[in-house]
Amino acid sequence: MSLNAESTAFRSALEVIRAVEPRVADAIGAELADQRESLKLIASENYASPATLLAMGNWFSDKYAEGTVGRRFYAGCQNVDTVEALAAEHARELFGAAHAYVQPHSGIDANLVAFWAILADRVESPALKKAQVRQVNELTEADWFALRRELGNQRMLGMSLDAGGHLTHGFRPNISGKMFDQRSYGTDPATGLIDYDRVAEAAREFKPLILVAGYSAYPRKVNFRIMREIADSVGATFMVDMAHFAGLVAGKVFTGDFDPVPHAHIVTTTTHKSLRGPRGGLVLCGPELADQVDRGCPMVLGGPLPHVMAAKAVALAEARRPDFADYAQRIVANAHALAEGLVRRGAKLVTGGTDNHLVLIDVSGYGLTGRQAEQALLDSGIVTNRNAVPQDPNGAWYTSGIRIGTPALTTRGLGTAEMDVTAELIHTVLSQTTPGESKAKYVLDPALANKVNKHASELLAGFPLYPAVDLG
Ligand code: PLP
Repeated sequence: MSLNAESTAFRSALEVIRAVEPRVADAIGAELADQRESLKLIASENYASPATLLAMGNWFSDKYAEGTVGRRFYAGCQNVDTVEALAAEHARELFGAAHAYVQPHSGIDANLVAFWAILADRVESPALKKAQVRQVNELTEADWFALRRELGNQRMLGMSLDAGGHLTHGFRPNISGKMFDQRSYGTDPATGLIDYDRVAEAAREFKPLILVAGYSAYPRKVNFRIMREIADSVGATFMVDMAHFAGLVAGKVFTGDFDPVPHAHIVTTTTHKSLRGPRGGLVLCGPELADQVDRGCPMVLGGPLPHVMAAKAVALAEARRPDFADYAQRIVANAHALAEGLVRRGAKLVTGGTDNHLVLIDVSGYGLTGRQAEQALLDSGIVTNRNAVPQDPNGAWYTSGIRIGTPALTTRGLGTAEMDVTAELIHTVLSQTTPGESKAKYVLDPALANKVNKHASELLAGFPLYPAVDLG
């Protein structure tokens, strides 16, 4: 029997790798087997298409290509130009943006590109120029202080971490927290929703240079039209980090006030979460910021990864097809079904539900910490991650929440009926787990964990992952 193209491609690749270092080939094969067997509910993960994966494994990886299309610091970049231009064109068309920069290696890198572009555009500062020629890690706390003071105490207003914001939105453990004085807006304690009047009030008081919207763990839509009005009212640059929900923007689930692209001055994203592309990032903006954004490499980025840009072009082309809009609709329908199934069984959800791809369970309702719940679910074959809830009494390490998302399982083809079964499995594990003597310890009957594991495997068996890929 002749093999299909995908199976032939991956088998041949593994054979070539195995001849050099068989343990790497084995690990790659084992990763596919593990992914096939796990009920993946990590909201930030997905399964890229075979075409996207294959576009990364080739000689583009050998090419240096600093600069931009047609303006490189290296010779012989004509083919890199082709794929970078294609990826940028697909990104512009898909999101309706005037300019797209597809070199960032990840979401964090895309945010750094945006921050420097905004600063460079807004601030003419000798201290900034000095910072640009020195190694960032050479700057002392005093340097940063002086720099910020000279810059006029550059300020960033972003969503607080425990309300679902991201570390790169001005928090101390990230460079953004050193580059900017940060203040955050949270959510209304009664509803769990963003209170736009409070954001406006904070903006009036704090007068940020940058207002950031976007999140890693907020289960609702954000009204970007209102956020832009707030930014305009204080002369701030409005930046949206749509890393999590880019697939919902691409698939036209988020339109009008909920589509960030027409409202923000600059938009950043990852390409590997709901957008279902290779690991990477990109930046979208209007003509005013385009020149500064294009300086991302070498300002804050290492040399571009042409093989990943090739994969971005493939994935973005896929996202422009009508079936991607259907996929995006199903992600949200599945998240709804999962949330409803959990609420019906008595789970406590942050905001009571969802209107995007993710659900945040407040596991204090089960008497557990996020750490205990995450491990108990993992023992039962359900892969999630712990996450802080607003005003979390257990802090960012142990947490009181479990974040779950539907992009990956939706790619596998699971639908709303399977989401109800998934809700049942999650509720069964969490309601049967009891806290142990520390915030990390818990007690779960191994027989129950095995039973849930088996049930999860049966559920997944009906929806094979990469059905066309047979590694033999
Ligand atoms: N921005 C947001 C909102 C995210 O959720 C994440 C990742 O979780 C990132 C940025 C960083 O992405 P990456 O891990 O690709 O750097």
